[in-house]
Amino acid sequence: MVKYIQYKHHGKTVWVREDLMGKHREHCMCYKCEKFHPNEPNNCPIAQELYSFCVRHDMTTPVWECPEFEEVSYERAIEQDNKQKGEKV
Ligand code: SF4
Repeated sequence: MVKYIQYKHHGKTVWVREDLMGKHREHCMCYKCEKFHPNEPNNCPIAQELYSFCVRHDMTTPVWECPEFEEVSYERAIEQDNKQKGEKV
């Protein structure tokens, strides 16, 4: 049975499905998309809007379907993986 728990995320207490906690990046298509440039001016406008929404409402929303997705090149995927390893979740 799926269990829901609470924990502190960026200083706010939130609910999460226990088995999916911390797995946002594993499931979100943006992390494998050519258009995804977080914290940069050329970031995808959809991803940027979604990020602003998440910050405003203390939510985490992985993208599972997107009409604008463009799969990253092998080189950029490696670059993104290395970047993510250096970042905190
Ligand atoms: S095009 Fe879609 S998958 Fe790609 S970064 Fe934007 S929202 Fe994410």
